[in-house]
Amino acid sequence: MARRKILEYPHPRLREQALPVTRFDTDLGGLIDDMLETLDATDSLALSAPQVDDGRAVLVIVPSGGASVPRTYTNPEILSRGAWGIVQESCLSLPGLVANVWRATEIRVRACDCNGAAFEIDLAGMDAVCLQHEMDHLVGKLFVDRLSVFSRLRFHAFAGRRARRRQQAA
Ligand code: ZN
Repeated sequence: MARRKILEYPHPRLREQALPVTRFDTDLGGLIDDMLETLDATDSLALSAPQVDDGRAVLVIVPSGGASVPRTYTNPEILSRGAWGIVQESCLSLPGLVANVWRATEIRVRACDCNGAAFEIDLAGMDAVCLQHEMDHLVGKLFVDRLSVFSRLRFHAFAGRRARRRQQAA
């Protein structure tokens, strides 16, 4: 197991479409182990493979409600959406940014586990929000894309300041 570097906006990998997992082999197991170790070193609840520079459709999410083991979702798809609401999100690839996003807060999901066994699960609240946020990463979408025009302008000003600070620090 190894901790991987988390890619940050505007890295081009974060805009790529992930490919479905077709081989549930030791290489996939290694990726998932690394993702779990990488996630564990953050204060975040979820991570997608593209964020650690891997183009496979894999997510790991810590379920809400206590000291739970993270769940692995490969090739996830949302089967249905119930209630919607405005939720506050942040992203490891957009450090420092917190913003409100409109999301379904009740969903039914189908995915495979790390061994390729299919399962279906109902998610609500933060669990539903995390899954949708991470599924966006699998299609090259970031949560800034879901913000209002005003919030997006604020984000670009924020990202510009951060880039300039980095250049000054370098
Ligand atoms: Zn994210």
